[in-house]
Amino acid sequence: MKIALVNPPWTFDGSIYFGCREPHLPLELGYTRAMLEAAGHEVLLIDAHLQAIDSADAAALVADFSPAMTVVTTAPTYLFWRCAQPELRVPAAFIRDLNRRGGLVVAVGPHGSTTPGPTLRKLKADAVVMGECEEVVAALADAGGRSAMTRVAATAWIDRDGTLRVNGTGHASRFTDLPPLAWPDDWVRRHRHHHHRFDAAPDGPGAEVEASRGCPYACTFCAKLDFRDRYRRRDLNLLLAEIDRLIAQGVTYLYFIDEIFLPQKPLLEALVARDIRFGIQTRIDLWKPDMLALLGRAGCVSIEAGVESLTVAGRAALDKRCRIGTDELTRLLITAREHVPFVQANLIGTPEDDPAEVSAWRDLVQGQGVWANDPVPLYPYPASPQYRQMWGLPDDHAWERAHDHYLAAFDRFSDIQDERPVALARLEAACGR
Ligand code: SF4
Repeated sequence: MKIALVNPPWTFDGSIYFGCREPHLPLELGYTRAMLEAAGHEVLLIDAHLQAIDSADAAALVADFSPAMTVVTTAPTYLFWRCAQPELRVPAAFIRDLNRRGGLVVAVGPHGSTTPGPTLRKLKADAVVMGECEEVVAALADAGGRSAMTRVAATAWIDRDGTLRVNGTGHASRFTDLPPLAWPDDWVRRHRHHHHRFDAAPDGPGAEVEASRGCPYACTFCAKLDFRDRYRRRDLNLLLAEIDRLIAQGVTYLYFIDEIFLPQKPLLEALVARDIRFGIQTRIDLWKPDMLALLGRAGCVSIEAGVESLTVAGRAALDKRCRIGTDELTRLLITAREHVPFVQANLIGTPEDDPAEVSAWRDLVQGQGVWANDPVPLYPYPASPQYRQMWGLPDDHAWERAHDHYLAAFDRFSDIQDERPVALARLEAACGR
């Protein structure tokens, strides 16, 4: 079967999106391509964001390929599934431009994973995959034909009579044995961005890789209940083969997209032996001083650590399950900074934290070289425990409800947002036409 895989050309004007707007490697589509090709399928992979192709041209390329199935993602790569833009206008525009020239149109991403019905209607897609997508898309291709969804679990579609059909629940990939990805040289050359790096300007291409997926915690604000939830660790030899290929292509910086990069001595020792710098996101309470030293020796130049609240009560309200106190967290952050040139402590605006104390703590750690952000408000993503505590299971209006709550409840926004975000209905005005 011929299958097109598409990361559309993202724009975020007016969005609440606070993730990075640079292109990143579409790992989910890379794995999908590897699995499809291993099964004998013919694949066209387009990253319109990285390749700077507009929506109409991307659709024309797909139409020329004449696939039996076209897969489009609704989030700008796995890295941002937990904090995706709520609006679906970009993938909807691509599907509109494709204009039924791409065979069965399947959407993958966090939106269809949590709210398949509204996602199908807004996108006018034929099917959505619920949960992690690589194995499900491969199964859809193997099942073949327009009714493949009825034979493949973790899919949803709308029948001719307008009824939503859901086959199974969200999928969690095995992940551990995903093959080493091989990206085209020209894609790697184009990838000049070093994600979340602040210690130095890029000295070569960057790339994203994945050593583990999921996280054993369930913080209330974390939108991963429907995907990337259960913790799994990838086979180290497969990961190192991918990293060595990237280094051979000239990559000088890696970003591990892992939800939680846990201390893993064999991986860190393997990185010590390689000429590469890298960035991670983690929980500082899970590290010991000797492992932080090894992390620095391995080439880590950027740590983003979720501290969230400076009080035991605040962390408990967020269900952080943090076993150490604020003083020890502070010491670990400062120790990390002795070995790694950029360390960020993420804070969230909580009622338990006194703004004056937060300000004093920020000054304290910044005096030791640790960056701490001005506490940001939470977006109650439908895939988060917080959403379900507030409103129950997500329904057809879940994204609009979360969006309206966010716009109404907060009068100041993340410091990377210059413009006030607008209502979801306005952002998606062209969806579903
Ligand atoms: S530790 Fe991080 S990844 Fe894990 S649930 Fe909490 S916020 Fe999410």
